[in-house]
Amino acid sequence: MDFQYSPKVEALRARVREFMDRYVIPNNARWRREIAAGLNPPPVVEELKAIAKAEGLWNLFLPGLRDDEPGTRLTNLEYAPLAEIMGQLQWASEVFNCSAPDTGNMELLHLFATPEQRTRWLDPLLNGEIRSCFAMTEPDSSSSDATNISTRIALEGDAWVVNGRKWFITGALHAKVAIVMGITSPDAEPHRRQSMVLVPMDAPGVTIVRDISVMNHISAESHCEVLFRDVRVPKANLLGEEGSGFALAQARLGPGRIHHCMRSIGQCELALDLMTQRAQERKTFGKYLHEHGPVAEWIALSRCEIEQARLLTLKTAWMIDTVGAKAAAGEISMIKAVAPRMQVTILDRAMQTFGAMGLSPDTPLADLWTWGRSLRFADGPDEVHLRAIARREIARSRKTLGSAAAFLTPPLDDEAGHG
Ligand SMILES: Cc1cc2nc3c(=O)[nH]c(=O)nc-3n(C[C@H](O)[C@H](O)[C@H](O)COP(=O)(O)OP(=O)(O)OC[C@H]3O[C@@H](n4cnc5c(N)ncnc54)[C@H](O)[C@@H]3O)c2cc1C
Repeated sequence: MDFQYSPKVEALRARVREFMDRYVIPNNARWRREIAAGLNPPPVVEELKAIAKAEGLWNLFLPGLRDDEPGTRLTNLEYAPLAEIMGQLQWASEVFNCSAPDTGNMELLHLFATPEQRTRWLDPLLNGEIRSCFAMTEPDSSSSDATNISTRIALEGDAWVVNGRKWFITGALHAKVAIVMGITSPDAEPHRRQSMVLVPMDAPGVTIVRDISVMNHISAESHCEVLFRDVRVPKANLLGEEGSGFALAQARLGPGRIHHCMRSIGQCELALDLMTQRAQERKTFGKYLHEHGPVAEWIALSRCEIEQARLLTLKTAWMIDTVGAKAAAGEISMIKAVAPRMQVTILDRAMQTFGAMGLSPDTPLADLWTWGRSLRFADGPDEVHLRAIARREIARSRKTLGSAAAFLTPPLDDEAGHG
């Protein structure tokens, strides 16, 4: 087991770090000004995208690209430390064409799109010319269980007709296309009822009802409620096979889920840096904050938790690369349950270390806490992942049921009867 990044990855880390320090972080104030002025998407992102693309720091997330597609052919394991660095600033991943939900959507299109779908949607996404969204969750059905989805996608002549209401659809405000999940075969068995179709966001009948605030905060990327009323798209817009929606959702959420965890780890590193530096600047009761036991313990625990989560993320990435997302499903669930909780805990400690300032907009901490809290839902709530882990564990244990009994310690014969 080699715990070192390869020379290739070290070189890329240095380049991404350098790009962040040179172009992205110094432009954060400009990005905020542009968003405040209602320029969304902000021009600064387009400018920096052109530079990142020219420097070859582009589509770092997608292994197995075709020769004619722009990007770097990295494995998930190689990509993980780069996603950490890009994840530290809310809008940075987009500069490298590595932001959610586009990365998951590009992966899905890469795997399942027809040649025509690739030309119309995947190529412009890979080039960073358009953005996309993924529409599964519904206000009227408990969407942690995808078999509950009620949006209807019915075949009428040579068109699919979509009717339904989705919400918390990240990026819908700026998307040119939505991958919409709904029911195409109501009489099939529960996991074969759903399909995905590609719906242009300017199709008649698509309405963005509202951009929903998260913890009372409207984010620049948008999380929208979207109504699809009698939306007609050509039959050729079906993604994959009819009835394969559930399987496609599982495929999409594999690498996409760990990308979120990689960015989470980067955000926790930033929170730990901020907390540790603040604790060395401020004094109470004659001591620096880090000299008080509880603050030192927060720092230490945060370091331990980040290292644990990083190892699990890297193991999961390595498994996706070597045995595939399906065989890595247990690890994907584990890190998806671990990383967002860790983020909430570490951000909470960092905010506490900062005092009232920790809750103000003068630090990124409150935003990063909010995002960590959101991640406890996005791509499946913690409980669903924990349930999947428990099921696997119980199935594994069932195969050797009774074997652990050898380790029980009943009283020895000569101890029996005493007392
Ligand atoms: C910021 C943000 C962005 C999002 N972006 C998107 C997006 O782009 N596209 C999209 O389709 N969705 C998106 N979502 C939605 C997210 O995927 C769903 O919220 C999530 O899947 C849960 O579905 P639900 O909200 O319907 O909760 P429900 O299914 O109603 O579940 C409610 C709660 O029940 C509990 N629960 C459920 N099942 C179990 C179980 N088996 N055991 C124990 N407890 C359980 C969990 O605590 C869960 O939180 C986003 C959410 C947020 C907050």
